[in-house]
Amino acid sequence: MVETDGSIEHVDSLKLAYEGAARTGPDAFRHSFDEALAHPGVAARQAGAAALADACRACPLLTVCGGGHYAHRYRAGHNFGNPSVYCDDLQRFIRHAARRPVTDAKPTSAGA
Ligand code: SF4
Repeated sequence: MVETDGSIEHVDSLKLAYEGAARTGPDAFRHSFDEALAHPGVAARQAGAAALADACRACPLLTVCGGGHYAHRYRAGHNFGNPSVYCDDLQRFIRHAARRPVTDAKPTSAGA
């Protein structure tokens, strides 16, 4: 994201993790986007499964869940290398959906 003051930041959704979570430091007036890509937080988001918590990398639901939304992985003192704060709910939902036969799916009124 490029803020109105020119600062290059992570996506807005990271702002819910903690004050300043979206900041990277570079700005569009003095830095290139390639420089912003070198920010450790930006690099971590490009690392895929390698940046996930051990528990997520070992999780049988990883290919569906993906570790949850990045902002939901933050824990004070542990940064973003954690399972989603909604891990229990994600597991329950994914397992519930996997048990439902495809024939249970009904079109919504918008799709009818
Ligand atoms: S957040 Fe929970 S359900 Fe999702 S991959 Fe990580 S451990 Fe598995």
